[in-house]
Amino acid sequence: MNIFIINSGSSSIKYQLFAWPNEQPLCSGLVERIGDEQATITHRVFGGETPTEQHLTLPLPDHAAGLREVVRLLTAAPGGVLQDLSEVAVVGHRVVHGGDRFTAATVIDAAVKAEIRRLFALAPLHNPANLVGIEVAEQVFPAARQVAVFDTAFHQTLPDYAFRYALPTPLYTEHGIRKYGFHGTSHQYVAAQAAAYLGRPEARLITLHLGNGCSAAAVRDDKSLDTSMGFSPLAGLVMGTRTGDLDPTILLHLQDALGYAPADVATVLNKQSGMLGLTGANDMRDIGVARAAGDPAATLAYNLYAYRIRQYVGAYTAVLGGLDALVFTAGVGENDALVRQLVCQDMGFFGLVLNEQLNQQRQPGLRDLSAPESRAKILVVPTNEELEIARQCAGLGG
Ligand code: AMP
Repeated sequence: MNIFIINSGSSSIKYQLFAWPNEQPLCSGLVERIGDEQATITHRVFGGETPTEQHLTLPLPDHAAGLREVVRLLTAAPGGVLQDLSEVAVVGHRVVHGGDRFTAATVIDAAVKAEIRRLFALAPLHNPANLVGIEVAEQVFPAARQVAVFDTAFHQTLPDYAFRYALPTPLYTEHGIRKYGFHGTSHQYVAAQAAAYLGRPEARLITLHLGNGCSAAAVRDDKSLDTSMGFSPLAGLVMGTRTGDLDPTILLHLQDALGYAPADVATVLNKQSGMLGLTGANDMRDIGVARAAGDPAATLAYNLYAYRIRQYVGAYTAVLGGLDALVFTAGVGENDALVRQLVCQDMGFFGLVLNEQLNQQRQPGLRDLSAPESRAKILVVPTNEELEIARQCAGLGG
């Protein structure tokens, strides 16, 4: 059978098709600028020595039109990977917010869709786009089973003292204000890979997902014990354009003393802060080049970014009662040797000692960057959220 994974955004659809049970990726792609006369599709087919890539520019009025075009590419010759759409048995959807109802992958029915809709209030940027993806996939793949895999689900194992805020209780009981955490699929995947590498399912792990968005998680026994994102994906680490942790009084000050409207506050915190706010650039590659040239803003930004991560490493080592491995993943975590170096600097007292030479080398797959004297391992584990979603869909059986 085949499993088709969809990650539907407000104007984009990311997709990947797997042959199952051998977990073989058949093709993947990205539809962008949906709603535009000049929408684009990048479609990559695996199978030969090197993947073949097709680029299309075409008008796509909505998500349905985008997905129909993708389906045409799946079955069209040359390069088609399916004879017929009925070969897709399962469609797995990445859904950002599952609230506190969904703790695992879930077969989608009317009640599940209603709950995803109810959660629009908590994830106004993501859940509406995710639901559009589901409804379009139901039309395009009517015979397939539709499954939702929630970004929040992995963190539903947090104890109450970790997920509650010290706010008046009704704000939690009546309005759902609590920590949910995000990037769960990625944390779960890399933690499982790391635990398998260590040969110890019960290993105490800190996973650092450092991409455009960044989050840390404390994981043991395939369970998340704490994570740095909170009620929304704004909390915690410094990110490409998001602040991470800050004193909430700053929000009030922006509004009351500086005259910002609430929407402007949201824009500053989500889109104009983080590395972008500190340096004017949000891609670590550009900031790394500026830092190497001695740019003071880039130097400060790297130091602040790494300092915040180090604070969480300290906190989560305490949460876990020790540490067996620190795991770096996602665009920055997998590629930026300087970030890893700054994070691990002078961490010998936590048992973390980086092998500087290995840290500089670029290699695919899981990498162990620990020095021989390091008590805890320092690992790079490439994330693969699509594969993890497909595995969870397959794990539902039936
Ligand atoms: P992701 O969200 O996992 O796709 O990560 C995207 C981010 O990874 C980009 O914004 C870059 O800042 C960062 N990134 C990608 N490649 C590199 C690299 N070679 N060195 C440093 N940062 C990188």
